Amino acid sequence: MFTLQKQVDISAYTTLKIKAKAAFLAVIKEETELQEALSWARLQKLPVFILGGGSNILFTQKIKALVLKNEIKGVRVIKETETSVWVEARSGEWWSTLVRFAIERRWGGIENLYYVPGTVGAAPVQNIGAYGVELKDTFVSLRAINLKTGKEKIFTKKDCAFGYRSSVFKNKEKGKYFIASVTLKLSKKPVLRLDYGDIRAQLNEQGIKRPSVQQLAEIIRKIRDNKLPNPAIYPNAGSFFKNPEVTKADFVGLQKKFPEIKFFPGSKSGLVKISAGWLIEQAGFKGKRYGPVGMYEKQALILVNYGGASAKQVLAHVRRVQAGVYQKFGIKIEPEVNII
Ligand SMILES: Cc1cc2nc3c(=O)[nH]c(=O)nc-3n(C[C@H](O)[C@H](O)[C@H](O)COP(=O)(O)OP(=O)(O)OC[C@H]3O[C@@H](n4cnc5c(N)ncnc54)[C@H](O)[C@@H]3O)c2cc1C
Repeated sequence: MFTLQKQVDISAYTTLKIKAKAAFLAVIKEETELQEALSWARLQKLPVFILGGGSNILFTQKIKALVLKNEIKGVRVIKETETSVWVEARSGEWWSTLVRFAIERRWGGIENLYYVPGTVGAAPVQNIGAYGVELKDTFVSLRAINLKTGKEKIFTKKDCAFGYRSSVFKNKEKGKYFIASVTLKLSKKPVLRLDYGDIRAQLNEQGIKRPSVQQLAEIIRKIRDNKLPNPAIYPNAGSFFKNPEVTKADFVGLQKKFPEIKFFPGSKSGLVKISAGWLIEQAGFKGKRYGPVGMYEKQALILVNYGGASAKQVLAHVRRVQAGVYQKFGIKIEPEVNII
């Protein structure tokens, strides 16, 4: 039986640590508890909100809902061949626990995503990505539970409509499902992605020519540790904004005006992705604080709550940064974080 708490401050369940009250909160450790909680919410005519590790959320108002904190854990192998292995993880498992499960067995495919905070169930919601790899690259399917009916549905890769930091769960099916488990196909003969960010430089520094999956994961952990603020010290939600994409024609014009502009290949042909961190830095926000809020001094894309910030102050800063970037470059940057 699930335990219900009333009028709970859930800031401690989020990495940005902004004060917000939930009308009801239940920590769910089994799927039977989930079904019971969904039935209760149905009877009360209350909406349901799913919370994983709270590392990609900004609550801006009182949450008049039953918040379900997902702690349904477990990882298992469901199929194996000579070259591949299918791993199913339950959605409340920490993402990095799943990555560790894979790298300890030398299975490749998700090592570049090591140390992305949060749970397995949230990973498909925004198609997590880091160091040239996205969840969709190894994703097979997921099992979801309809929040209204309690019925199960399998989503294939195609059904999920993965895009850059997006999926059907951020669009058409937003707020409709509880993702219960995720199945990935990992490789027993991994081809490692070493051509992104500082990976090569780190390998050279350590004199490693042909890294193992474990060595690569350890390098990723080190790079992230050096670059990203630890939410326990500097509360944050990772990259606050998405890298904007523009057409190649628009990009040519921008590059003429700003030859130093930092960019990457776009998510589709004909598009160019521009570094939002670079835009924010050039607009003068890197390391500059506005009261208790500011963009981190080592990584301008990360909004930090330096202590006691309110949702109102964070939202004001989000608008300030968007306006500053738009004024200088004519580009609208959109939040990656889920603003509730
Ligand atoms: C320091 C730091 C670094 C980060 N680096 C990266 C990075 O490199 N790459 C990257 O992609 N992201 C990154 N993030 C963002 C974050 O880690 C991911 O978005 C992660 O997947 C969020 O997981 P979570 O469990 O904390 O989700 P939450 O913040 O709890 O939830 C996020 C959204 O998913 C929904 N959700 C959560 N679980 C479920 C479920 N089981 N079923 C249905 N909906 C669900 C929630 O309702 C919410 O809308 C970073 C964040 C931080 C703080």
